[in-house]
Amino acid sequence: MASIFTKIIEGEIPSYKVAEDDRHFAFLDINPAAKGHTLCIPKKEIDYIFDLEPNELSALTKFSQNVADGIDKALKPIRTGIIVEGMEVPHAHIHLIPIYKETQAFSLGKKVDVSEDGMIKLAEQIRQNICL
Ligand code: AMP
Repeated sequence: MASIFTKIIEGEIPSYKVAEDDRHFAFLDINPAAKGHTLCIPKKEIDYIFDLEPNELSALTKFSQNVADGIDKALKPIRTGIIVEGMEVPHAHIHLIPIYKETQAFSLGKKVDVSEDGMIKLAEQIRQNICL
């Protein structure tokens, strides 16, 4: 059965898309740890990120770097942090989490409320600042 993230790539499940190329897709996390929390995924469905071939992991990392650059330009955090965990969704993904304050709790356990309208605007802002 296709993962929830494959269904997002295929448009079966809606998402706040921020970027896509031939091998990758990026969209806002629906339970964000900070405004602009973005997930970068390979289109190839694989559970464990370190089961990707080295060239695939490298390409996902480069794609994520470009998305992080877009987040930095759009939202002006101090920097964008990265978490890879993957205990909830069995489709490899990189969490990009903007850090706005040095005291910000940096954890997937911490969530912020963002309205539907806010999510649409954040995705648009990030999308406009990404150069792939
Ligand atoms: P983890 O597998 O623990 O690294 O985290 C999976 C992440 O996917 C969580 O932060 C969820 O909030 C996020 N997530 C789950 N379903 C969706 C969805 N339909 N759209 C966006 N993000 C999602």
